[in-house]
Amino acid sequence: MRITKSADSGLSSILSDQVLDVIKKIFQISLIPTLLLFLYLLYGLISGQMADVAGKPTESAHALELVRQLSLYLNISLVVTLLSAILLYYDEDAFGVILLLVAAFLAYGLQLAIDLIFSSDATRLVNNTAAQELLREVHLTAMMVGAPGILMILRTMFSRFMTARKGEDLANLTYGQNAVKEQVPKALIGALAHCWQLPFCREGVRKGCPIYHARTKCWKERVGCMCEESIILLSMGGKEQSKGQDMTAGVGSGFVPIGDLLTKSAEEKKANIPTRAGPRGVRIPTNPHITDQQKRQRCQNCVIYNEHQRQKYQILSPPFTLIVPVLVFFQFDNLLHLMRNLLDAIDRLIGHLNFNNQGSADIAKGISGNVPIETILIICFTLVAMTWAQRFLEYCTFKLKI
Ligand code: SF4
Ligand code: SF4
Repeated sequence: MRITKSADSGLSSILSDQVLDVIKKIFQISLIPTLLLFLYLLYGLISGQMADVAGKPTESAHALELVRQLSLYLNISLVVTLLSAILLYYDEDAFGVILLLVAAFLAYGLQLAIDLIFSSDATRLVNNTAAQELLREVHLTAMMVGAPGILMILRTMFSRFMTARKGEDLANLTYGQNAVKEQVPKALIGALAHCWQLPFCREGVRKGCPIYHARTKCWKERVGCMCEESIILLSMGGKEQSKGQDMTAGVGSGFVPIGDLLTKSAEEKKANIPTRAGPRGVRIPTNPHITDQQKRQRCQNCVIYNEHQRQKYQILSPPFTLIVPVLVFFQFDNLLHLMRNLLDAIDRLIGHLNFNNQGSADIAKGISGNVPIETILIICFTLVAMTWAQRFLEYCTFKLKI
């Protein structure tokens, strides 16, 4: 049984189902001791057992030794769990974000939760050598989980740059859903390509297509080969067609070939197609029976226009996403100031919500001025902002279709 979502690329397509099943078993087996060890260490802390032995040298030494030993086992099983999880969920976009959230909770959320739940007793619980050793281990665990989280988020963003987006809304099209791609003269810049420079333009239709001869774009004229029969009719027969047929052929003998009748009918239809003057003096067919709004909706559900959107996304995605770290780099000091103010505000709010009316929860004190932690926090915020920027561009390009 396949565990990850099926994908055309990525690890799930390289590893066989049997290998993935073995990795899944390893993940499940290693996850159990990882959770048990972590919860047991946490129990030792919050139950007050570590705090109770403070001041008793023999018991303290035993508690410290136990924490160190269990931490070692925890690190080993955590490495196995993380490696197998990465192999299993490598293709999942949300995996990196989940890892980063877990890391953030371990780094800051746990201490915060202890402060909130145990209030005045929190200081007693953590102020002993075994508890301090345990908190160091928790921070190490946060780093072990956070590092692959950051790498996975970067990988997801990079893979989106390379493959553009393959969302459901692109498969759910009304016009040209099953159209096959053809070799076409490529545009220098994909995002600026005309419809006849996209792979869904069929050579047979293009030869006589008024949109092609006018060197315009079908979505600009609101008529094209996927949505209007008139374009196909006008395309039939190429240049020969425009000269018209000799309708007197066969008259006199009393026999009119069926081919001539069909051609005559097509010719009559062509003659009745309403047109207007387009670029280069080419007559562009018009459809007076539907509104501009309906024509716009038609384009939004067409494979040609969506290919145009995909190309636009591919070219806009890297600069749009990378502008975030550039802004962060130039506004680093301001962001640092903003973050400190934000942490102070959270501190005051939590302190105010405490029943013992401490006034402050002292979270900011542990972070403010600690450059490595502040930098890691800003890197995490930057990664999240980059992901949002990419999602926002996707929303504009593939949902709003602007
Ligand atoms: S309307 Fe269709 S056939 Fe005509 S140029 Fe555009 S993509 Fe090609
Ligand atoms: S629906 Fe729009 S994009 Fe598609 S062929 Fe017609 S005009 Fe072109």
